[in-house]
Amino acid sequence: MRVSSITPQYVNNIPDHLEDGVLYVCERFGTVAHKCCCGCGEEVITPLTPADWSMRKEKGAVSLSPSIGNWSFACKSHYFITRNQVIWAGALTAGQIAAVRAEDKKDKAAYIAAINRQKAKQVSVFGRLWQAFVGWWRS
Ligand SMILES: [Zn+2]
Repeated sequence: MRVSSITPQYVNNIPDHLEDGVLYVCERFGTVAHKCCCGCGEEVITPLTPADWSMRKEKGAVSLSPSIGNWSFACKSHYFITRNQVIWAGALTAGQIAAVRAEDKKDKAAYIAAINRQKAKQVSVFGRLWQAFVGWWRS
């Protein structure tokens, strides 16, 4: 059965058995899990990272963005979780799914590039400090 609302439940670990209509939020591991809102029984895991999903909490209600697109399941469900409400989006065509996937890949690549730039920056700061130290040591 399709669910039209979902209740957040904060957990230390994602349980083995998920209930319909419950959004399991595991902040410790930055993971959110729920059963596909169409009722097909598939489990949807949404990692919370800048390249995956983000979660917003307002007065006990949660929103996930971007939308949940279960392209790999038979149901191909597509919906938004906004303030505990499940807002159904139209099914996407194969072409649209390919476009979303390409966009996801770009996001992920940009995220990894940003982390690498950050790391490179840290290395160069450390390198400069080291050179300053060596310069001082030799003088
Ligand atoms: Zn489904």
